[in-house]
Amino acid sequence: MDVRNCPSCGKIFNRLRRDICPACVQKEDQEYELVRDFIYDHPSVDVQGLHEGTGVAVDTIMKFLREDRLVNTSKNLVLECESCGTGISSGRFCDSCKAGLAKDFSSAGKTKDVPQQPAKSGYGSFHFMRDRLNKDR
Ligand SMILES: [Zn+2]
Ligand SMILES: [Zn+2]
Repeated sequence: MDVRNCPSCGKIFNRLRRDICPACVQKEDQEYELVRDFIYDHPSVDVQGLHEGTGVAVDTIMKFLREDRLVNTSKNLVLECESCGTGISSGRFCDSCKAGLAKDFSSAGKTKDVPQQPAKSGYGSFHFMRDRLNKDR
């Protein structure tokens, strides 16, 4: 058994697949759906507007973005590239840093085992990692 405190609510739980307790997983999934639906109706909303419109904490919205569950290539939802600080829409690094990282990778001769990332469909708008969400249930 891997028993730990839920980082979200502090309750002790038996860690199975996620790092937060089942109650928080459920809450987070509900929040995710709220956020997703709100964005669907208000495609140009920013983080603050999302927070006010859904009641979901800004931190949680940022977490969805960080985890690539929510992707927006417009300028409204902004994260910072962990490498250079440029505003990005999701994930951890901006495109040029990602390209730089890939280059480092190939010069080390490791590209063989790294499949090319498929082009993101829906570029320029939100798209949602529904499959991943459902799989975790
Ligand atoms: Zn919890
Ligand atoms: Zn960068």
